[in-house]
Amino acid sequence: MYKNNIDTIKPYEPGKPIEEVQRELGLKKVIKLASNENPLGPSKKVLAAIREAAKNVHLYPDGGMFRIKKALAKYHGVKPAEIVLGNGSNEIIELLVRGFVLPGDHVVSSDMTFLVYPLVTQTAGGKYIQKAMKTFRYDLPALAKAVDKKTRIVFIANPNNPTGSYVSDVELDQFIDSVPKDVIVCLDEAYVDFVEAKDFPKSLKYLKRENVIVLRTFSKSYGLAGLRLGYGLANERLIGYLHKIRQPFNVNSLAQAAGEAALGDPAYLKQTQKVVFQGRNFLQGQFKAMGLYFVPSQANFVLVCVKRNSKDLFKTLLRRGIIVRDMTAYGLNEWIRLTVGTMAENQLFIRELKKILGK
Ligand SMILES: *Cc1c(COP(=O)(O)O)cnc(C)c1O
Repeated sequence: MYKNNIDTIKPYEPGKPIEEVQRELGLKKVIKLASNENPLGPSKKVLAAIREAAKNVHLYPDGGMFRIKKALAKYHGVKPAEIVLGNGSNEIIELLVRGFVLPGDHVVSSDMTFLVYPLVTQTAGGKYIQKAMKTFRYDLPALAKAVDKKTRIVFIANPNNPTGSYVSDVELDQFIDSVPKDVIVCLDEAYVDFVEAKDFPKSLKYLKRENVIVLRTFSKSYGLAGLRLGYGLANERLIGYLHKIRQPFNVNSLAQAAGEAALGDPAYLKQTQKVVFQGRNFLQGQFKAMGLYFVPSQANFVLVCVKRNSKDLFKTLLRRGIIVRDMTAYGLNEWIRLTVGTMAENQLFIRELKKILGK
């Protein structure tokens, strides 16, 4: 009765919640630098909108999502019919696979990327083809070669999680030109607001294509991870197709109100970017000074080689009230992924790391 494709799935391991660490280790103060969340806490404007919207939680949400779609359409200069919202952009990833992948079909991506892609592919009975990264970057020519008649979707996280690296506009142009029009190319841009690189692709220009979808999320730069709100931008045909298979009320009313308010609070986004840019520079500078290899990041986290067993380091840091992400799930046994926190959190982390490494 149990399906083999599901029995063999490795469950997704989320970053440890703060409360769990407090409970298990009896610690009062715990900081989480493990799940790329926003270190500022929620925007005040968002909190006010949630309080207002809470008055109506006895009613079903607007299944058509009129207001948040209108706000997003204005923000991106697209039509509301070119937007599909989800319970986090994770849900859009799932809708894509459910909508396009039949058992035996192929999904192509990289070996060191978001673990949700293989998870949902395997659930659908699809085959996940992963091409090795080159120096911690997507090898797009290798992905292009891996695309064949069975391929339905290619996932590209840009900037990528967990490496923080990115593919450039020129590289992506070439790749998208080389992919057949009946293969969906999903550009997962969860970290786009943290990019400083000048040659980062302006992905919305691809929306005229039949087969490209761009994913964005409110979980990181907008500080709404707990509410679950993300969306896809694509042509009307593709968006309409995804609307058919989503649940009628897949985005709750608080998330819809919060998303609209978040878009109306550019100062919060600016402040977030400032904190992430400063913190990222600080952390990378410290790693360099300590002689630790890291992947230069365009996201709100840094992948760094700690020259120690990363599971041990993870546990040691945990006892000191700092949650990070060890990278053994990717076969990187001496690496951790560290989310950029507030400057006080970053400094605390560096102090503890130096003590542990004897620097
Ligand atoms: C965090 C993240 C997301 C966002 O997921 P949500 O479901 O919107 O919270 C999507 N893709 C990648 C690669 C991520 O790291």
